[in-house]
Amino acid sequence: MHRIKPKEIAFDIDGVFADTIGAFIKELRNKYGIKVSYEDIKEYELAKIVNMNEEILIDLAKKILYEPVDMGIKPVKGSIQVLKKLSEINRILFVTARPDKSGIQKWVEKYLKRDNFDIVATGTHEEKAPLLKEYGIKYFVEDRLETCFILEKASITPIIFEQPWNQKPHPFIKVKGWHELEKMIDWNSS
Ligand SMILES: [Mg+2]
Repeated sequence: MHRIKPKEIAFDIDGVFADTIGAFIKELRNKYGIKVSYEDIKEYELAKIVNMNEEILIDLAKKILYEPVDMGIKPVKGSIQVLKKLSEINRILFVTARPDKSGIQKWVEKYLKRDNFDIVATGTHEEKAPLLKEYGIKYFVEDRLETCFILEKASITPIIFEQPWNQKPHPFIKVKGWHELEKMIDWNSS
C-alpha cells in the first residue's frame, strides 16, 4: 500500500480532473449528431475511433484547448473534494501536455482558488517527466498509458487513472476514481 505525501504527488488534468471526453461526446452529439458512448473511447487518439471529418475534429480540439469553461467540461466525480483537501496542506501541481495553458487555467480557477495550484503546460507528453523531476514529484496521476512508461523510466511512479482508453495490460498502480486516490494519501503528512 502506497502512502503518498501530499507534496510528492502531481496531477494530469484532462481525463483525471477534467471530464474532457464527456464534454467532447456531448458536443459531438448536440452539434454534429454523431453518437458515441464513453465506453467506446478505447484509444487516446480520438480520431482513430470516432468517424468524423477533419473540420469537426479541429473545431472540437480548439474548443477543448481554448474554451473548456464555455464548452461545459465538468470535473471528474470526487475530484474537487480531494483536491481541496490537498490544497489545504500543499500547493497543488498540475502538469498538462496541452500546448497552451490559458484556457485550462480559467477552467481550474472555476473550481479551485487561484493561490492553491500551479499549472505547467509542457506541450508534449515527453516533457512531463523531466519537469516533474525538477519539482521533486514522486507520483503522477495520468490517464495516458504511453506517458506512464516514460514516467517510470524517469523513476516517477505513475498512477493510472482508469478510463476506457487505458485498459491495455500494464504494470502500473491504478485507481478507479478519486475515492481510491484519497485512500493512498497520507493525510497526516505534508
Ligand atoms: Mg490526460
